[in-house]
Amino acid sequence: ATPISIIAGVGRAAQSGILIRNGDALQQAAKLDTIVLDKTGTITQGKPSLNTTYVADGQDAERLLQMAASLERGSEHPLGETIRAAAKGKGLQDLPVKDFNAIAGHGVQATVDGQTYFIGNTRLMQQQHLALEPWQARLHALDAQGQTPVFLADSQQILMLLGIADAIKDDAKASIQRLQAQGLNVIMLTGDRREVAEHIAQQVGILTLHADVLPADKSQVIADLQQQGHRVAMVGDGVNDAPALARADIGIAIGAGTDVAIAAADITLMGSSLRGIADAIAISKATNRTIW
Ligand code: ADP
Ligand code: MG
Repeated sequence: ATPISIIAGVGRAAQSGILIRNGDALQQAAKLDTIVLDKTGTITQGKPSLNTTYVADGQDAERLLQMAASLERGSEHPLGETIRAAAKGKGLQDLPVKDFNAIAGHGVQATVDGQTYFIGNTRLMQQQHLALEPWQARLHALDAQGQTPVFLADSQQILMLLGIADAIKDDAKASIQRLQAQGLNVIMLTGDRREVAEHIAQQVGILTLHADVLPADKSQVIADLQQQGHRVAMVGDGVNDAPALARADIGIAIGAGTDVAIAAADITLMGSSLRGIADAIAISKATNRTIW
């Protein structure tokens, strides 16, 4: 492509709400064969809501929700925000929390009233050697509905299980189908559990997924695909996605996502729609053919 056609292509993309950082990304987009999509905030709206609350025998649900929200006070994770919002909606005040520690890909550990508490996924519960067996039936009930489980525990036992659901973006399925129709292999990548990921993947027509991926391992999934000879775009919104966005042949950030993701990306899609991915590739192909 000529410099003039690249400038024209970047301008054409901008009119469609696609911000391209450099002309090279515009030219390379036509050569992609694989699109890796983060789940939370990329395929889903990233505005999860608390749908289900299960408490252990003899426990008080409100008191535990208050505890959960207090532990999540320092968290930047969307699940933490959801739990805080639910507690606030019930007028519950935060308890004083000490020794807050966010454990990437797992959850949070913190101290209240001299007691250590944990809030997070099954991986965190297993790491603390907490018995999951009594919760299996309820866990499977959440899995069947595609709800993400969040456990609250002290150092002895699990106290509560929350089910949090995140709606799929309105145009996610159509955007993914368009990519597949362009001959691209579309893959989902998430730190969430396989059961939840499969539920979402099925609804948007994604056949390949990598679930339970720790934040530090997301970029390795991209590197492995590249090693196999693929030209890979990564699409993400979160701080956790930044290394994978940087590693990919083309990193594409959701404009409604975090500044860290946008800074790591070559292309930013304005707003939250995924429509711009296929548009960017089409504009890239047109630019390489220099048709305007
Ligand atoms: P993703 O954004 O793809 O879900 P993350 O790596 O951010 O991936 O998180 C992976 C998983 O770790 C989450 O799905 C959740 O189960 C758990 N987790 C992480 N942070 C928190 C938190 N603050 N509260 C509860 N669970 C958390
Ligand atoms: Mg995300």
